[in-house]
Amino acid sequence: MTRKVFWEDPYLTELETHVTTVNGDDITVGETIFYALAGGQESDQGTIGNHRVLLARKEGKEIVYTLEDGHGLKPGAQVRMTIDWERRYKLMRLHFAAEIVLELAYQHLHSIKKIGAHIAQDKARIDFEWGENISKMFPVIQEEARRIVEANQEIISAFSNEDAEERYWEIGEFARVPCGGTHLRRTGEIGEIELKRKNPGKGKERIEITVSENRPCS
Ligand SMILES: [Zn+2]
Repeated sequence: MTRKVFWEDPYLTELETHVTTVNGDDITVGETIFYALAGGQESDQGTIGNHRVLLARKEGKEIVYTLEDGHGLKPGAQVRMTIDWERRYKLMRLHFAAEIVLELAYQHLHSIKKIGAHIAQDKARIDFEWGENISKMFPVIQEEARRIVEANQEIISAFSNEDAEERYWEIGEFARVPCGGTHLRRTGEIGEIELKRKNPGKGKERIEITVSENRPCS
């Protein structure tokens, strides 16, 4: 089983590890910092043993990496893993912005239901089942989110059940939130959060989230 170092230290950008299995272009490794799409957060980009990773995917608790054709790696080979940190850090900032927006939406709109979420490098989005124009809530959500960012609170991330690989995050404001994504250390790293209402459908509302480089606490 791959040890997920991206949980222990989500700020690590390089790691020495070894190949554990090889199946054509697909390999697994002993330890990893390379996140694979889960919970709406996109996969990292980067290399293993100087070979570009084309695809990272979860198979149960395992993570399988598809490398460029002809990697030539064998089980036991020592390899250096690298990730595109600019991309990962942006994903982490957008991910946590989305976490806060979601918790605030739950606080203020009691019967609202999340029906989807996606975090890409340029923006995040959350889809809700909700019969009203959600942008009416934006001033409140944006103001409270700004307060949380400016307070630069510590974000606790830990296992709720290590064997089952169940994780949570917690800040002062909210109850524990289950999530297996990679989280920032402090809320101040997020920067300024902007919200837009996008592609509303019947009974469905989408919030699009972007963050600006204007970070009050960095
Ligand atoms: Zn999360």
